[in-house]
This record gives sequence, structure tokens and C-alpha cells, in this order.
Amino acid sequence: MAKKIGILGGTFDPIHIGHLRGALEVAEQFGLDELRLIPCARPPHRLSPQVSAADRLAMVRCAVDDVPPLTVDDRELRRERPSYTIDTLESLRGELAPDDQLFLVLGWDAFCGLPGWHRWQELLDHCHILVLQRPEAASEPPEALRNLLAARSVGDPQALAGPGGQIAFVWQTPLEVSATQIRERLASGRSVRFLVPDAVLAYIHAHGLYPASN
Ligand code: ATP
Repeated sequence: MAKKIGILGGTFDPIHIGHLRGALEVAEQFGLDELRLIPCARPPHRLSPQVSAADRLAMVRCAVDDVPPLTVDDRELRRERPSYTIDTLESLRGELAPDDQLFLVLGWDAFCGLPGWHRWQELLDHCHILVLQRPEAASEPPEALRNLLAARSVGDPQALAGPGGQIAFVWQTPLEVSATQIRERLASGRSVRFLVPDAVLAYIHAHGLYPASN
């Protein structure tokens, strides 16, 4: 039987409940066999992460330890080049059967930035795209995505068929949390308890990450 695999890439600087609830809810809603969290090495579109790749990976591991079907995939950290999603999809496809379904999960903000991604028009050759609504999301997609949405989006996410090629919007429990906000809280010496899993918080403290600036 065809497998259903979801992937959620991110900087995870640090991983937080917005990522985790989104991942888990998508996994449940689509009956995924696995949802892989994939930390990126050198994000092509943004400033360097505040902490090392090894620490970001370790925090993701702490967060999903024993939370099936969430898993961690470190392939982007093992690569020499910048983290391009198209390379990740090609590499994953090489490991799957042709009829396995692959779902690329993107927050609304990430989806709106798609036209700036390397070889973005080829992404749907390898996967479906699930767009997670974020509370602060602008309601209109950028002009460059209009034609793609008209051609590829489906109203009912459960109607996604085949190994890839379509776009659906999914609603998750709205959590207005961002890693930026968490870094800011830590920098000013405030608590981030319950915004990240306790195991992640313990890791942050044990390794002195995101120290408060005086
Ligand atoms: P930063 O604040 O540093 O930009 P972030 O919180 O947006 O980070 P990323 O690691 O950049 O986190 O995000 C990875 C993916 O998770 C992106 O597709 C992003 O849109 C999505 N995402 C992040 N936070 C949420 C949230 N609260 N709800 C839904 N999706 C989210």
C-alpha cells in the first residue's frame, strides 16, 4: 500500500508549539505514516540562525522523542550546500515508491515566499503542498502564486489524490507563536515555559542557549 509521508522544514531556532501542533494535526488529519521535521542547515532566505545546527537538531530531537508519527530527518544538515527544498524532495523521492504520497507542509508565510525559492515551479512534481494557516496570515496570496493556485489548489484537502501535484489549505489550532518571539523573550530574561516543550526548555538551559542580554 502507498505510504503517506509529510515533511515540515524549518530553521527551528528553536522549535516551538506552533510547529509541533501543526505537524501533529496534519499527521492526524491526513493519516500520515510519518511526518518528518527537517531542520535546514544554511537557510537561503534569511539571516543565520542564532544557535548551531547541532543544537537546533538536538532540540527538534528532544521535542519529538516518543511522539509518533513525528520524526526527525537530518539530511539537510549533512549536505554541504545551502538547504534547497527541491534537493530534499528529490532525495526523498529517490527513497520512496513511485505511488507514495509526499506532503510538503508550509506555514502561510513560507508559502507566500515560494516564488523566491530555487526551482520552485518544480516542487509540485514531487509532492502535494499543504498550507498551514497562521493567525497573522495576510488574506491575499502574492500575485505570482495566483495562477498556480487557480490551477492546482483543491477545496477539500481530503480530495488530494496521487503522489503529488496539488495544493490544499489546512486549519490548525491557531497558535500565534514564533521562534522570533521566543528568542526575544529569552533575550530579555522572560520565561518561554509552555511555548516550547519542557524537554526543549531543559536543553536550552543546560546548554546556555539564547542567553539574556544585559
Ligand atoms: P522565525 O520567527 O525565526 O522566523 P518561525 O517561528 O516562523 O521562525 P520557522 O522554523 O521559520 O519558524 O518555521 C518553519 C515552518 O513552520 C514554516 O513553514 C512556518 O511558516 C511554520 N510555522 C512556524 N510557526 C508557526 C505557527 N505558530 N503556526 C503555524 N505554522 C508555523
